[in-house]
Amino acid sequence: MQITEIETFVVDAGWRPWQFVAVRTDQGITGYGECSDGRNPYGIVGTVTDLKPLLLGRDPRPVEALYWDMYRVTRQSPGGIAAKAIAGIELALWDLKAKALGVPVYELFGGPIRERQRVYWSHCGTSRVRSHELIGVPPIDSYEALTRLGEEVASRGFTALKTNIVIPGEPARTYGGGFGAGATDQDVPVEILRHIERQLAALSDGAGPDVEIALDLNFHFKPEAAVKICRIAEQFQMLWVEIDMYDASALRQVSDGTTVPITSGENLYGLRDYRPYFEARSMDNVMVDIPWNGFSRSRDVALLAESYELNIAPHNYYSHMSTHIALHLCATVPNVRILEIDIDDVPWKDELTGGALEFEAGELAIPTGPGWGLELDEDVARAHVWEPGRGPGFVARSR
Ligand SMILES: [Mg+2]
Repeated sequence: MQITEIETFVVDAGWRPWQFVAVRTDQGITGYGECSDGRNPYGIVGTVTDLKPLLLGRDPRPVEALYWDMYRVTRQSPGGIAAKAIAGIELALWDLKAKALGVPVYELFGGPIRERQRVYWSHCGTSRVRSHELIGVPPIDSYEALTRLGEEVASRGFTALKTNIVIPGEPARTYGGGFGAGATDQDVPVEILRHIERQLAALSDGAGPDVEIALDLNFHFKPEAAVKICRIAEQFQMLWVEIDMYDASALRQVSDGTTVPITSGENLYGLRDYRPYFEARSMDNVMVDIPWNGFSRSRDVALLAESYELNIAPHNYYSHMSTHIALHLCATVPNVRILEIDIDDVPWKDELTGGALEFEAGELAIPTGPGWGLELDEDVARAHVWEPGRGPGFVARSR
């Protein structure tokens, strides 16, 4: 079997782009990978194109051999765009190999360890602030709207949700990111502390006692501010507070300052990035982004986490392909806390990969079809192109 072509797709997913890689072969089998990232969509697919000469004409099945060749030639640009491009190709290679063998990807890794996986409703409220009209849901125009959203989460069977700092209003807004010194100082104004308490209370009131709540602070705060926010969150039934920080001891400072579980790591790559955080015991749950790390390296991270008595929580705010990929990973490791998924999304999300996912009691079944168990519908992908030069979605939002 030989690789004959590698094609990429940058799909308009409303307020962010999704990127996909198709690896085609002389035997008519195509493998698909996802390497979505809202920041540098055309940088990532451009890097995939740069890697094509290394791969065309080669047998796609020795996936690790091809992975380490790609790793070696991009070694001086570690992580970031290069890692995401390699991950998209590596994921497509696993899909291809498993399809050639007629088995699910988890079979190649000794799975399944589990039949089902608990998921949480991510960007709960956040996506409705950004694009409620596109999603086709009510706006977040009041704290009561947040309470109704909490009720909806519980009534649809989910047992956990994750939100960001969402400020109701007309229009509603999210807090964090943006531009200027105020954003780079990473402090937290007292009115935002008061708001966070009100927001978590409104969501909790609606979601009820059986739904755990996570709050994702992203990179928006320094440890002092993060601790203040965590201490407010302590009064609620928190799944975790999530915060991204590039210094392991600073994150440990946050963990030490609160009783709320801390989750982090979605922007880290490979064992070298994760190891200092594990050694510092700075997080309780480990985010790993599979479309950015690839399958094998994400699995490495999960197993290293296991040796530190930590569970992973795959980072997954992408298409159903990424969700299937994450379910396969969950099916091959023994230490999963919970899996992320976006429920509010663009109307074409289901048709992009051939249909809707079936939730049952806030869980998804591990897919059993060959490869990832779904296909990218290339016609749908081509019908929804994220135009070059549009920039990341959050640029327009934050100005
Ligand atoms: Mg996050």
